[in-house]
Amino acid sequence: MSAFDELLAFQRQTEALSSIAERLGWDQETVMPRGATEQRAEEMAAIEAVLHERRTDPRLGEWLDAATPEDAEDQRIVELITRDFQRASRIPARLATELARITSLAQGVWAEARANDDPTTFLPVLHDVLALKREEAAALADGGDLYDALLDDYEPGATGAQIAALFDAMRPRLVALREDVLGAAFQPRPLAGHFPQETQLRLARTCATAFGYDWSRGRLDLAVHPFSSGQWQDSRITTRVVETDPFNCIYSTIHEVGHSSYELGIDDDHAFTPIGRGVSMGVHESQSRIYENQMGRGRAFTGWLFQRMSDAFDGIDLKDADEFHAAVNRVTPGFIRTEADEIQYNLHIMLRFDLERDLVSGRLDVDDLVEAWNTRFQQDFGVAVDRPANGMLQDVHWAVGLFGYFPTYALGNVYSGCLHQALCRAVPDLDQSLALGDAGPAVEWLRENLHRHGGLYPPRQLIEQASGGEISEKPLLDYLEAKFGEIYRL
Ligand code: ZN
Repeated sequence: MSAFDELLAFQRQTEALSSIAERLGWDQETVMPRGATEQRAEEMAAIEAVLHERRTDPRLGEWLDAATPEDAEDQRIVELITRDFQRASRIPARLATELARITSLAQGVWAEARANDDPTTFLPVLHDVLALKREEAAALADGGDLYDALLDDYEPGATGAQIAALFDAMRPRLVALREDVLGAAFQPRPLAGHFPQETQLRLARTCATAFGYDWSRGRLDLAVHPFSSGQWQDSRITTRVVETDPFNCIYSTIHEVGHSSYELGIDDDHAFTPIGRGVSMGVHESQSRIYENQMGRGRAFTGWLFQRMSDAFDGIDLKDADEFHAAVNRVTPGFIRTEADEIQYNLHIMLRFDLERDLVSGRLDVDDLVEAWNTRFQQDFGVAVDRPANGMLQDVHWAVGLFGYFPTYALGNVYSGCLHQALCRAVPDLDQSLALGDAGPAVEWLRENLHRHGGLYPPRQLIEQASGGEISEKPLLDYLEAKFGEIYRL
């Protein structure tokens, strides 16, 4: 066996074990008995220990040194294993264990602090998480920028400076559009009523099918925070139900179908190799967003959905497909990122990005975070935060050490703008299909141009290849202005 073959065989087992760990996580969030948390924590810790050992196994270094990849694909595989090996090796085992312990603890403290609406218990533990993350960043950065080192985990190749410039370019047009929309004479009516869980879930399944979800390799379950999980022959989705707001369930489902379609669309040849999964969080989010927003909340698809919903619920309190489309896309002031519309969502991300960059660099102290958040929110949204649970306590990310993750959401939106522009050019009759509840032609185009490659190309290159041009915020902003201009009759 050549060094490269040995490397690949070893990696295949590591990937399979990591897939098992992910399945345990899925189980925990969906069907695991409530009383099993301790047992699951021990099971997870055991498998994580095995994974850490494999990822830092000294034989990897030897195989990597001796490997002679034959083509660009093998070259990329070697590059990705090298990258993971170097990152894993740079982090001392003590730090990795301590981070796992403190973030698991911090998650519980955060949940309680949020429930009690009181940040005082959470801030000391967040302080510890941040200290460890900065230590990790310093180990990874090797003299370079700390934030960039963390960001690299989620969006390889991206830098904080690059993202700051992108956000600076986006902000003025988003703020202006928000002002116009909120000040418009016409304001859409929200959908009101009671929508039983079983009917919502039936409808969610119908929507997942409309977006080409492969039920032979997936399933839909309930979870508190919807997510998708798994790849290759098994990528599952979850959703949630609020009986007063059926859009929550429907659009969470379509969003997660976007994530799963990406994983299920990757070429079988890549399975259980480092290129057998989505290449970055930003690219992943571009898929969930283009399914959910550009297609799912578009006029064509919502026209179809209006009919399905009217049938399923025996009539709804909106008079036609136009009013329905406006209700789906309604813009209202609000504190919560996950409830934000397509315009304000990006502004929520910018706030978090600036604050977490300052936290990681040391420019901002955890003790001043609540005030910094509130001041910034007032500046950006023109409203004072009424309570901490609606402010800096709303997201779990920092508690679990996910510094550098937030910008990938907005990056995903920007990528989805570029891809949507190219998709509309390539599939001119896309709206006709969507109006019939069939996203098939779009899914096919995305599979061909993006999904099937998995991790073969770096994120930016992949998006530029697929969209046929340089990455720019312009397509997204043009799309938002056109869409909301029409809905709000600007
Ligand atoms: Zn997502």
